[in-house]
Amino acid sequence: MPSAIIIGSGIAGIATALHLRAAGVEVDVFESNEYPGGKLHAFEINGYRFDAGPSLFTMPQLITELFELFGEQPADFFQYHRLNSVCNYFWEDGMRFTVDADREVFAKEAAAKFGIEATTILSYLKNGQKKYELTASLFIEKSLHKMGTYFSLDTLRAMAHLSEMNLGISLDALNEAAIGEPHLVQLFNRYATYNGSSPYLTPGIMSMIPHLELYLGAYYPNGGMHSITTSLYQLALRQGIRFHFSQKIEQILVVKNKAVGVKTTSNQHFADCVVSNMDIFSTYKKLLASQPHPERTLRQERSSSAVIFYWGIRGTFTQLDLHNIFFSSDYQQEFAHLFEHKTLFNDPTVYINISSKETPGDAPPGCENWFVMINAPGDYGQNWEALMAQARQNIISKLNRLLGTDIAELIMAEDVLTPPLIEKRTSSYRGALYGAASNSKLAAFLRHPNFSNKIKQLYFCGGSVHPGGGIPLCMHSAKITSKLIISAL
Ligand code: FAD
Repeated sequence: MPSAIIIGSGIAGIATALHLRAAGVEVDVFESNEYPGGKLHAFEINGYRFDAGPSLFTMPQLITELFELFGEQPADFFQYHRLNSVCNYFWEDGMRFTVDADREVFAKEAAAKFGIEATTILSYLKNGQKKYELTASLFIEKSLHKMGTYFSLDTLRAMAHLSEMNLGISLDALNEAAIGEPHLVQLFNRYATYNGSSPYLTPGIMSMIPHLELYLGAYYPNGGMHSITTSLYQLALRQGIRFHFSQKIEQILVVKNKAVGVKTTSNQHFADCVVSNMDIFSTYKKLLASQPHPERTLRQERSSSAVIFYWGIRGTFTQLDLHNIFFSSDYQQEFAHLFEHKTLFNDPTVYINISSKETPGDAPPGCENWFVMINAPGDYGQNWEALMAQARQNIISKLNRLLGTDIAELIMAEDVLTPPLIEKRTSSYRGALYGAASNSKLAAFLRHPNFSNKIKQLYFCGGSVHPGGGIPLCMHSAKITSKLIISAL
């Protein structure tokens, strides 16, 4: 039986293991943490349960299809439901708006609230849908680094519409031209953060992202985001995939330009191929130190990182729901601080995710578990202790202003996550949430391929390689990578 070693049990590592196992490959997963899931992890403090990383769940079929690979009924092991409203938005000028999950309803309500035509909003959203449908099969579902990808009908169709993809202008410029109303422009600009980019730099093609949420749908996995990890991990165990926790890989063993195995502090392990789910930068710098490095790819700008306060809150807030955003009053300055000045802005956009709204058991009775996140620059050696203290103060005064209550005295439990901690726990270079940023029109082509073109039998999956970060793209990277491996075995 052919064999594979996977370095890392992030969501893409587990998914790649499952695809390979379904094709009859013997799989061993080596993970440096004591637990599976990487960024998709969870923890508890004083009766408050928190999902540590991702909170927004889209494209659930990419999870459920993994159960179907083995003839299992997904609903027996993993349940989820579609959200009726997608997000609550709050602005400093007192404007508040809840985005309905139905795009027709959203367009009608937004038109009434912000005084623009519903048809303008709908045509913007439909244009995003067209971009998605024309390009997904080229940019997301296939390797961009195999000639076969370019000789297909889908590619020809996408190329024929290239001029409509708004690659030459920024997402912000597109939104200003197409929408114009400042609150809605900010709302649509925010989608750039779904891949850790700046709306003032990322190209207008990213206007396809709202299509995922407002048409294909935003979902919530019953039991919280962490149930994605636990249900897939359990599936992997049922299928005989072997996991080795607290096993940090120190080197990928290469003999005559072929990856033949891996080395931990105490042992060597061999297999027919090696897949790294570790961040691509760290894979080269730490595990392939003596091999040539694709320096241009590794120099790519990283996506934004995050600062998170996990707060156990005494009390409940009826004006809040699962996803809530409190916008900065100067969005452009906020992104200039993140990407140019590499620091936090003093009026940050604050995202609060409250999973106890969906799963009441995630907090003690009469309480809520707040995951409070602001965008942050990557770790460039800033003084994070000082930045965190300032950020905590800025967030609290913003929430006090917009919610009209003293938040500080309601915080019963607290933990934090910083860019250096994200790097320490997952090896993500500079603590990037989504690998490389998409701040240029060529970003998709500069991302590292899912295979090495120098070392045979060496493959890559996860948020730092093609097609990019976020759970859906990680699941696609697992599919692309495993397909390449299976066709080569
Ligand atoms: P990772 O999760 O990065 O895991 C890599 C694994 O490799 C880790 O377990 C690590 O311990 C292991 N590893 C590293 N080095 C070694 C080694 N030497 N030996 C052995 N093992 C090693 N995405 C969304 O879709 N929606 C969201 O709402 C969202 N929000 C986010 C919020 C935060 C705070 C963060 C951090 C991320 C968010 N993301 C979101 C992005 C998403 O979490 C990631 O894109 C995705 O989880 C990355 O998965 P991965 O498979 O690339 O691996």
